[in-house]
Amino acid sequence: MKEKIYTIPLLDAYQTDCDCVFCYLEDKIVQEELDYTLGDSMMEPDSRMQSNETGFCAQHLKQLYDSGNRLSLALMISTHMEHLEEQLKKANIKENGKKGLFQKEIETVDMGGLKKASAHCVVCDKLAEARGHYIDVFYYLWEKEPGFQETVQQARGMCIHHMTEILEGAGKHLKPVNAQKLAETLLEQQKQALAEDIRKVKGFIDMFDYRNQGKDQSEFKEALPPALNRLRGKIL
Ligand SMILES: [Zn+2]
Ligand SMILES: [Zn+2]
Repeated sequence: MKEKIYTIPLLDAYQTDCDCVFCYLEDKIVQEELDYTLGDSMMEPDSRMQSNETGFCAQHLKQLYDSGNRLSLALMISTHMEHLEEQLKKANIKENGKKGLFQKEIETVDMGGLKKASAHCVVCDKLAEARGHYIDVFYYLWEKEPGFQETVQQARGMCIHHMTEILEGAGKHLKPVNAQKLAETLLEQQKQALAEDIRKVKGFIDMFDYRNQGKDQSEFKEALPPALNRLRGKIL
């Protein structure tokens, strides 16, 4: 991976004060994709075709709705719903279906394109593709880029979700000595970060105890968002 251009977004993410570089990058991709969906993509036949066929998951539909661009959203879903209407017409109800030899259940309806529209999401699919790419870049930099290990060591760590993902693939992508150093680094960071989050969440709980009235508890007021973001990736 000689092309520096692939490594720039991840290196840039490490220059920010974020709690998890992968959450930061994913957040950026989602935002860009949502903006594109209700902006330029409206005029692009290829991406309109993709959003018509695939649609969006509940979370990303909600984000599209919350973005406030209701006219674009209405235009986008009206053609998506027309596509669904077509698929509904094509859905076959199977009469007197028989179980095949290796089939566990009899399919009552052959759903065709309806299945694609409910199992996928334009934004989630894009995210999955980008996530794999950035994780590969991370391993590459950890093994090859002088100074990157120090950058990671000095950063604020990662959410538990992304740390687990990185550590799970480390043995496959890195030399044993590098995989071990990565595990030591990330686990130690996580222990410290988690202990700090637990301290703050407990402080938050104590704010509701009348015996603590009058004490300065301002440090705990915003304890929940970073703690929630640490668990499964950024949600707030
Ligand atoms: Zn994360
Ligand atoms: Zn989605």
